[in-house]
Amino acid sequence: MWRYGALRRRLRRGEIERLVREGGLARVRRGVYASTSACADVVAAAAHGGVLGCESAAEHLGIWVLDVPQRHVWMHGDRHQYRHGDEPCTCVVHWDDAPSESAFGFPSVPRILLQIFRCRGTERFFVALESARRLKLIDARGLRWLRRVLNSRGRDLVEFSRDTSDSGLESLLRLRLRPFGWDVRTQMWITGTGRVDLLIDGWLIVETDGREGHDSPSHRHKDLVRDANAAAWGYSTLRFDYAMVVYDWDLVERAIVGSLRSRR
Ligand SMILES: [Zn+2]
Ligand SMILES: [Zn+2]
Repeated sequence: MWRYGALRRRLRRGEIERLVREGGLARVRRGVYASTSACADVVAAAAHGGVLGCESAAEHLGIWVLDVPQRHVWMHGDRHQYRHGDEPCTCVVHWDDAPSESAFGFPSVPRILLQIFRCRGTERFFVALESARRLKLIDARGLRWLRRVLNSRGRDLVEFSRDTSDSGLESLLRLRLRPFGWDVRTQMWITGTGRVDLLIDGWLIVETDGREGHDSPSHRHKDLVRDANAAAWGYSTLRFDYAMVVYDWDLVERAIVGSLRSRR
């Protein structure tokens, strides 16, 4: 993404016009140009007058987020908004101010997390935070900054977060099971089975199947063998997929609570 002035320092006016004509360069809005290979969301945020922020920026950086149906745009404190596309746009706009290195630079990862906390709520914040920690996109200094700017609920979530979470579903489960006070361990090694996602009270295995399918016959066979092996050693297994955890939590919770009650 470039401003016209920056382009002009490297190219003559005619060259810029030719690049636009031949499709090597796209005009985003008056005075702003993008490489035609730039990601559509990044370009749309610039067309709106800002940069990607919040969950949209997190998603772009490879941080685990739940579905992001809308584009979140960071306008700093004072950027001008532009109409873009055909309709009034549905961008979610953030106006928190902070310095940034360049006009089109993303917010820093700690700031992205703060935006998610304020805009998208505690669960989505926690999931993104654990993912950012796992990916080493936030360091001790960033975590200290977050603690300073968050409220007590947010600070508590930073304390509860780890840098070892394997997936967003694992983070979400651990957070949602927390109020029950069970002994919840993650990534435990079970004899005959191998590593499991969650182990509750020492005997109930909870496995989450990510977005990439466990539906192929070979995968399904492997899962069944795992569950049988675990049962042989006295464990029970519950298996949930992304849709259940995210859209049907009530059922997931009742399944776990029901199973735990049955042994008591
Ligand atoms: Zn947002
Ligand atoms: Zn917009």
